[in-house]
Amino acid sequence: MPFTANRQFKSAPRLLQSAKGMYYTDVDGRQVLDGTAGLWCCNLGHGREEISHAVAKQIGEMDYAPSFQMGHPLPFEFANRLAKHLPGDMRHVFFTNSGSESVDTALKMALAYHRLRGDGARQRLIGREKGYHGVGFGGISVGGIVHNRKYFGSLLTGVDHLRHTLLPENAFSQGLPKNGTELADDLERLITLHDASTIAAVIVEPISGSAGVILPPEGYLKRLREICDAHGILLIFDEVITGFGRIGEPFAAQRFDVLPDIITAAKGLTNGAIPMGAVFVRPPIHDAFMQGGEAGIELFHGYTYSGHPVACAAGIAALDIYERENLFTRARELESYWQQRLHSLREQPHVVDIRDFGLIGAVQLAPRDGKPGQRAYQVFTEMFRRGAMVRVTGDTIAMSPPLIIERAQIDELIGRLAEVLAATP
Ligand code: PMP
Repeated sequence: MPFTANRQFKSAPRLLQSAKGMYYTDVDGRQVLDGTAGLWCCNLGHGREEISHAVAKQIGEMDYAPSFQMGHPLPFEFANRLAKHLPGDMRHVFFTNSGSESVDTALKMALAYHRLRGDGARQRLIGREKGYHGVGFGGISVGGIVHNRKYFGSLLTGVDHLRHTLLPENAFSQGLPKNGTELADDLERLITLHDASTIAAVIVEPISGSAGVILPPEGYLKRLREICDAHGILLIFDEVITGFGRIGEPFAAQRFDVLPDIITAAKGLTNGAIPMGAVFVRPPIHDAFMQGGEAGIELFHGYTYSGHPVACAAGIAALDIYERENLFTRARELESYWQQRLHSLREQPHVVDIRDFGLIGAVQLAPRDGKPGQRAYQVFTEMFRRGAMVRVTGDTIAMSPPLIIERAQIDELIGRLAEVLAATP
């Protein structure tokens, strides 16, 4: 059981059996309202027949094609369909199998890009405290969640971190917080320290999810972009969570009107039905690789399952649904209702902060007896017992329902959380 306290799990297993629409059913036959779109990925809700038909058809037609020195048409079709939804002049896609792989791919691309352009001294990577970029060595090196890093040696060298933007003075902000824009100037400080000529890229989640929903202060991402532009540093947005309509646009880049050089994605790409990730790049990066470098190498990188036909079929079917049901913009329609209902929890005991943006919400609780995480974990288990799925991370309850959620189901989710908070010591 990955990411699970296994000893605890033995005594109270939570096993899910089936899923349809907004609900899971567990092995005991109880319905569980999905308040987290699985793990931030099932944006279209569950059990979409178009996806299962597309997957079954593709396995029948061609289950696999080698990704080495040959290919097949589906990744091209999927890439062309996706290109219409990408921000700015981004048009090119490299397919992976997960968010972690997308991040490692993006970091490698950034390093190789500078090298191909004769700027190979640019080897430093800058991440951010509390950032989550998956579990590959690249991802945990630029990531900033201590537990995910501390057991695994010295990690990548030449990595530095910006400070995170979770500030107590922003507690209970609705939407983007106002304080902390100047934290982006940490990048200037690192440039002074290391010299811009040694820095390849900066990677941030536009909204940090795994560390408990940390929002960018107003203007923060624009400022990061300006500093990167002034110093020839690539900006990577890790949109594994914020991509595919989570905040009311296909990508956070569009919602925040900030164009990064590279976007990493996964999760909502196939609605979580088949593992798949993607890296989107702007033309200068694509062109640098296409022109070839030393030894004619374009990008010597790939996976056995890059552009897997079955994953592409699932992704194309998912994209059909996003487009037909206008789900890329639905979070924006629901945002003010979601915000108002979420912030009504302020009256409940233990609540020390509430954060929201798009269809993401977080309720941060005071730790009980100074023990971090215990109260929030109890709220999570009790919510599940009462038929609603939320996510716990540290002292924070995070929610990110499928984009098909109805107002009545928002009421159900928030209402249940209010009851559980009121009953939790
Ligand atoms: N980046 C971000 C921002 C994520 O939220 C996640 C997963 N939660 C990942 C990367 C890693 O994705 P995966 O688990 O698919 O490797």
